[in-house]
Amino acid sequence: MQELTHYINGAHVKGTSGRFADVYNPATGEVQARVPLATPDEVADAVEKAAIAQVEWAKVNPQRRARVMMKFGALINEHMEELAELVAREHGKTIPDAKGDVQRGLEVVEVCMGAPAMLKGEFMDSAGPGIDLTSMRQALGVVAGITPFNFPAMIPLWKMAPAIVCGNAMILKPSERVPSTALRLAELFSEAGLPDGVLQVINGDKEAVDTLLDNDTIQAVGFVGSTPIAQYIYGRAATNGKRAQCFGGAKNHMIIMPDADLDKASDALIGAGFGAAGERCMAISVAVPVGKDTADKLVAKLLPKIEALKVGPYTAGDDVDYGPVITSASLERITGLIASGVEQGATLAIDGRDFALQGYENGYFIGPTLFDDVTPDMDIYKEEIFGPVLTTVRADNYEDALKLVMDNQYGNGTAIYTADGDTARDFASRVNVGMVGINFPIPVPLSYFSFGGWKKSAFGDLNQYGPDAFKFYTKTKTVTSRWYSGIKDGAALNFKALD
Ligand code: NAD
Repeated sequence: MQELTHYINGAHVKGTSGRFADVYNPATGEVQARVPLATPDEVADAVEKAAIAQVEWAKVNPQRRARVMMKFGALINEHMEELAELVAREHGKTIPDAKGDVQRGLEVVEVCMGAPAMLKGEFMDSAGPGIDLTSMRQALGVVAGITPFNFPAMIPLWKMAPAIVCGNAMILKPSERVPSTALRLAELFSEAGLPDGVLQVINGDKEAVDTLLDNDTIQAVGFVGSTPIAQYIYGRAATNGKRAQCFGGAKNHMIIMPDADLDKASDALIGAGFGAAGERCMAISVAVPVGKDTADKLVAKLLPKIEALKVGPYTAGDDVDYGPVITSASLERITGLIASGVEQGATLAIDGRDFALQGYENGYFIGPTLFDDVTPDMDIYKEEIFGPVLTTVRADNYEDALKLVMDNQYGNGTAIYTADGDTARDFASRVNVGMVGINFPIPVPLSYFSFGGWKKSAFGDLNQYGPDAFKFYTKTKTVTSRWYSGIKDGAALNFKALD
């Protein structure tokens, strides 16, 4: 059995707690590794070492820090196949999807290569007689990143790249279900020239997280995961005086207007509803067709497409559409929610619960499931299912559809399919959701914009990656200076590069 490690000061370090979490192969249900769960002392030690490394790292000029990012990006590209395999092995997603996971993280690294321009401050010349004002962006110090299981490469990269290029050191606590990708990324970062200690990967559970939240050296906490934990972490970090941004769960709706191209809308729903087994915070889990005719036609188009989906292990090749869910507990939760939907009166149009795959009987597979006639009082509507289950809530008109989205407690992503620009504009302008797609099902903003939901999908002020990340991971200092008139030095004539 493989025993995983922490990654401290540029080296793999064995855990000393004697506590481990099993890392499963979700396709077979077998334990393939065990990951150490750090003690408070191990966490404190990693933070202390990071604090020493951070002081020197912050002195490295931004252009040189950006060069480390360039090398890191090149190494990620070079190791794309290997990283995708690592992601798929522990998460269960298909290889093409796992490459997307790495790629969307890499794109954030690419934007961080332009960090010097993002880190420039502001200057006001002659704000008063002999008075100039300068504002500068300085690193926070040591920051923590706590990440979920569903994007083992992308979200750790969203956290580590901006934090580090801004001159901070980061303690990354990846999900204990998928720790290997973060450990490998840390090795590649070292190979790219990142000084030891600037990125520490600590594996652990609640005990490690709570230790980070209470550690006085930690200046900021970036979290991604489920809403109850996001809210808890935000509260505890903020109480301890830390900057915090905590991104939570979702229930993303797609409105399908009567004038929508239903072939395109149904294709979009298949990809956004069932890709990665529905384990995406930007998955569309609620289809909202407007009008009975639209709903009947949409469901008729969805049925054969859903029946045709291929579910299997990532090792079965590229024609597999999605793989298993992450754990047996997750599988049980999803099948329990499906049962509740039936009990509470929804129409189960396709039932994925009987799905079985020869040779993978112990894997956490579930077939694609479609519900029709879902109402907002049902558990399958209220809860984030986080599985391959698409629910259909029929709306009588656009205003009712919009109200449904607006009234939902989550506000991560949403989409509308329509041929009418006026409706699309109205929707984008009025909806209280952070990321909006118009004829686009999963509107994850590109890396030079920034990512963040509203309502119970995010706690804190700024989004992750893009320009917001440079604000989150730096603090502003403003200097007002006055130089009284006096004797000026002679001119310096030599043209010298800065150190
Ligand atoms: P999770 O909340 O169970 O775990 C996330 C992290 O928090 C892990 O590192 C875990 O070890 C830690 N953690 C878990 N319980 C804790 C506790 N009681 N105290 C302290 N730390 C704890 O989430 P998950 O199951 O790994 O991920 C799935 C969830 O993440 C879904 O709800 C999904 O919507 C959400 N998600 C959100 C976004 C976003 O950007 N909004 C992105 C991806 C995933």
